[in-house]
Amino acid sequence: MNSLYIHIPFCNRICTYCDFNKFLIKNQPVDAYIDCLIQELDQIQDEQLNTVFIGGGTPTALNETQLTKLLTYIQNKFEILTEFTIEANPDELTEQKIKLMKDFGVNRLSLGVQTFNERLLKSLGRTHQENDIYNAVNAAKKWGIPSVSLDLMYHLPTQTIDEMKSDLIKAVQMDIDHISSYSLILEPKTQFYNMYRKGLLQMSDDNLAKSMYETTMQILNAHGFYQYEISNYAKPGHESIHNQVYWENKTYFGAGAGSHGYINGERYYNIAPVPHYIKAMQQHQNVVKERIPVDEMASMEEFMFLGLRLNKGISIEVFNQRYQKSFDEVFGKVTNQLIKDQLIEIVNNHVRLTQQGRMIGNDVFEKYLLTI
Ligand code: SF4
Repeated sequence: MNSLYIHIPFCNRICTYCDFNKFLIKNQPVDAYIDCLIQELDQIQDEQLNTVFIGGGTPTALNETQLTKLLTYIQNKFEILTEFTIEANPDELTEQKIKLMKDFGVNRLSLGVQTFNERLLKSLGRTHQENDIYNAVNAAKKWGIPSVSLDLMYHLPTQTIDEMKSDLIKAVQMDIDHISSYSLILEPKTQFYNMYRKGLLQMSDDNLAKSMYETTMQILNAHGFYQYEISNYAKPGHESIHNQVYWENKTYFGAGAGSHGYINGERYYNIAPVPHYIKAMQQHQNVVKERIPVDEMASMEEFMFLGLRLNKGISIEVFNQRYQKSFDEVFGKVTNQLIKDQLIEIVNNHVRLTQQGRMIGNDVFEKYLLTI
């Protein structure tokens, strides 16, 4: 059963750290974009989908008419079997929009909170304030959205560890069931990156980021949010089903400008600039910019470095069945070395990161590359 990701590349303001495929919504051809998106979705043959995730950009930057058009199409075209998530910014989530989402079967909201701290929100270029977060969660609960997740960030410029702890405590005290917590990464072409290069932005050292990560694990675990992925924590039964599709290296469609998918052994990437995407769609040309066949070796590597992100790790049995090869023959040597280094352990026939391995996950994943 496939999943589907839909990209809405518009935002009301551009955040200082953001390198996603997004554009200021002002003067954008949003109605034409929605029409093209629907045209692209029309090409999907599957009637049943495991999960659907509408992300961005900011889906809540759409007005109610645009949102209704897209949600109506999705409802008529697909049967969504498990999870239907929409990403939202707290200040854009009006009660009317939440009610609409609920009416069209959305059962999970992912709120882009990042921090509750007003000084830091301002420096990130976010449009919401602390109160908007409480209002959005309360409204989601009032209208019966079953699952609410908060996205948080840490290792922000000038952020102290006490400020980060305060964010976590405020989050766990709310009626939510899932938290994603990501360290800020300075990405090229962002405002933060340019400021940093000009000496206008101070980043604290990596040791503080490490302490913040350890503190996050401790606080969230102590409050009933168990860690199931390197950056994701959930109350039992509320793990993101859609995101697990990525980590378990399963198949999914991607629709919209700059989105990507993984179907029939191929990863594909859509044209990213909105005008080019719209033009191609209107002229009935292919909006896929690139298709990359994933051969068996690449697939085995992906299986490892995506699956090792999950706390449960990868199942040796699933690997053996999927590739009709022995895990020991392909990855036995590297795994034994990583076990000696106390970065990997095998529990219940699953290979997983140790606590120490989780702190340097990317270094461990690299060891599973077969092609270098
Ligand atoms: S972080 Fe989200 S809201 Fe901010 S610019 Fe990027 S996509 Fe838009």
